[in-house]
Amino acid sequence: MTATWPPRYDPTWLPPRDAEHWAPDLECAKPTDREAVILAKLTAQVRYAWERSPFYRRRWEAAGVSPTTLKTLADLHRFPVVQKADLRAAQAAHPPFGDYLCIEPAEVARIHGTSGTTGRPTVFGVGRADWERIGEAHARILWGAGLRPGDTVLIASFFSLYLGSWGALKGCERLRATAFPFGAGLSGQTLMAVQWARELAPTAFYGTPSYALHFAETARREGIDPRAFGIRTLFFSGEPGAGIPATKRLIETTFGGACIDMGSMAEMTPWMTNAECRHRTGMHLWQDLVYTEVCHPETWRPVPYGEEGTPVYTHLERTSQPMIRLVSGDLARWTDEPCPCGRTYPRLPHGLQGRIDDMFIVRGENIYPSAIEDTLRAIDGFGGEFRVIVSRREAMDELLVRAEHAADVGDVAARARLAQTMKERLRARLGVTPIVELLPEGTLPRSEFKARRIVDDRDLYQKGTQHA
Ligand SMILES: [Zn+2]
Repeated sequence: MTATWPPRYDPTWLPPRDAEHWAPDLECAKPTDREAVILAKLTAQVRYAWERSPFYRRRWEAAGVSPTTLKTLADLHRFPVVQKADLRAAQAAHPPFGDYLCIEPAEVARIHGTSGTTGRPTVFGVGRADWERIGEAHARILWGAGLRPGDTVLIASFFSLYLGSWGALKGCERLRATAFPFGAGLSGQTLMAVQWARELAPTAFYGTPSYALHFAETARREGIDPRAFGIRTLFFSGEPGAGIPATKRLIETTFGGACIDMGSMAEMTPWMTNAECRHRTGMHLWQDLVYTEVCHPETWRPVPYGEEGTPVYTHLERTSQPMIRLVSGDLARWTDEPCPCGRTYPRLPHGLQGRIDDMFIVRGENIYPSAIEDTLRAIDGFGGEFRVIVSRREAMDELLVRAEHAADVGDVAARARLAQTMKERLRARLGVTPIVELLPEGTLPRSEFKARRIVDDRDLYQKGTQHA
């Protein structure tokens, strides 16, 4: 590790084609050796934010910490966490970028943002040098996923303020792959993407898992077996599906390629620093690029390996809007068990298992939408889409699962057996007996982006029936 911070990377360098790793000295290092590198980067990052950002200086002074607090990596937990609401408030008070922008506004190379489903959107200002480092990080991680120069990557996701598509594009370009940034979201665009893919024969695909499945259904309607495209690698972000075993298997059998789960948060871009390698053992945490602690959601201290918590992310080479201990709100278990790739990073063996706030409680059981999806996708005869409605009748929670049956589940008796199987497997997995209603395949709208499948009606019901 040189003393230079932020690091400067040679934009022309590439590993030998048959190399497994882009930076083996970091990726396969003894964790304690790598921690020294991380601590040096973290110290420089924290000092930089302290000097340049009133946002961090104010919060850290209030918590009684400063750059000198950081003597080991374990001291990081003493720094207060940042919630997305804190960022929105800082941008409301100091528009448009908030008082955590640490460069001159004229140095911002790209403006992105989140649409802000509730209240104010969040604005991202990404500096020029940061954008190049994002490309470097993404190329390194895509290399680990198995991409190589000469791959043609179909990027089938929105090109808008959404950072996912642009980050994938930047990484592909740095890796010297052939980018095919097709986009998504326009009327008729999926059919066009299928037609173009037939001509251009992409070897890799980026999008969301639900969109990949929609793309495959569209191809089949055109008489094309999705395996015929010759796509070897599919990498995903924006939804947890690629980390859900049954969805992963479905994508892999549908396309005949490897399904690689990736993604942290747009604020954190390089968002691929949660990413599986080509062995697909769960997402590695690429700790020397973004330092991730899986924390208890009340104490904000890291939980031991093997336990569940929420990822808290810290940039290590960011000059524009550095995030230092940004809370994700996702749910994950982490482990330090080895991976066949030889990387010594910790891993999230089950990926991001949902949102801490997506979890809903039915009759005392914690239920994650991803568990329902995983269970249904593993059942033969499931038609591909579902919705969940949680309601309350006479003070009892009720879990209604509306699931599609495949077109070939023809007769009434077969459908009754299918509904019974779904009910039994869901009960075994969730600990709650659901009501299962079957619908013909294709009834429910497919999502081109993040699938929203849960409706919780209990709040309405409670408000409507409360008595003084
Ligand atoms: Zn690995």
